[in-house]
Amino acid sequence: MARKLFIPGPIDVREDVLQKMATPMIGHRGKEASALQESISKKLQKLLYTENEILLSTSSGSGLMEGAIRSCTSKKAAVFSCGAFGDRWHKMAVANNVKADLHKVDMGKAITPELVEEVINTGEYDLVTVQHNETSTGITNPIEEIAEVMKKRKDIVFCVDAVSSAGGTKIEVDKLGIDILLTSTQKALGLPPGMSMCTFSQKAIDRAETVEFRGTYLDLLDIYKYLKKKNYQYPSTPSISHMYALDYQLDNILEEGLDNRFKRHEDMANLVRSWAEKHFKLFTDINYLSNTLTVIENTQNIDISKLNSQLIKKGMQIANGYGDLKEKTFRISHMGDYQIDDIQYLLNTIDELLDFN
Ligand SMILES: *Cc1c(COP(=O)(O)O)cnc(C)c1O
Repeated sequence: MARKLFIPGPIDVREDVLQKMATPMIGHRGKEASALQESISKKLQKLLYTENEILLSTSSGSGLMEGAIRSCTSKKAAVFSCGAFGDRWHKMAVANNVKADLHKVDMGKAITPELVEEVINTGEYDLVTVQHNETSTGITNPIEEIAEVMKKRKDIVFCVDAVSSAGGTKIEVDKLGIDILLTSTQKALGLPPGMSMCTFSQKAIDRAETVEFRGTYLDLLDIYKYLKKKNYQYPSTPSISHMYALDYQLDNILEEGLDNRFKRHEDMANLVRSWAEKHFKLFTDINYLSNTLTVIENTQNIDISKLNSQLIKKGMQIANGYGDLKEKTFRISHMGDYQIDDIQYLLNTIDELLDFN
């Protein structure tokens, strides 16, 4: 029996989507490959509300995080962090010899527009990174308000990590003035892990032109130029299997309707939140709760590892807390193609196992 993964990625992939990974190969230098990419780009532009070009990378989302900060920082990057993935972006900058400062808030708290404004007003930075959805703490940062602050500074490239939210939460890339919005396949998009995608604005292109050492494989400008010159093809061989599955899954997503999809995620989130508040406590600042995963404080001091092994026997799995938050918190993801009934079934099972009834 396939296990239902209520962890924040990878999550379950629908059988019909999984089957698309088994589509026979085509050459990556032919017309069919160009047509496949063009089809994916058009659909992703709809999902992300953008007219900017879409770039795929045959790497997980971390690859594009590294590529973005390295390709587009000329002076110095301001990395905002409210958890593990923000910290990771800073680590990547340092390891690539990209100048960057880490601006952190406490775990469970959000990045505020006030903090962003204060930091960028120093004039030290020409690139900003922020997580839209921080998966270690269950925070959705106030991206609209942060975007308002960012719009005042035309010289700063605005990078947003939406790995655990794009496809589950509405993010209007062009309206928000986001230069690079990146995500990967295995979370709210509901695909197998192994590929990632981003939007790439003219500002980001112009900036990358000024950066001397952009690396090679993750050089976003190189990928962009190749795509433009060679009619939607890539400098190296992309995961064609993922591309077939992605193209198909985007049809499913658009067919469901974006607003319906976002609403379904909100409904699943509300269900988990009210359950959590009844038995435990929400770990995350309630003003900034994520619609794709919920982080719960273990106020009852239950043995989360034990609960999870019991759940696994019943064909389900949740996630323990991230890093230092292990056993102190646990995480339930509600993203991708899960329905309310799937979430209700999980919560009922936990109730039974913990004698909550
Ligand atoms: C999962 C995740 C990542 C890392 O993505 P990979 O595809 O695993 O490399 C980055 N940022 C956030 C917010 C995530 O949830």
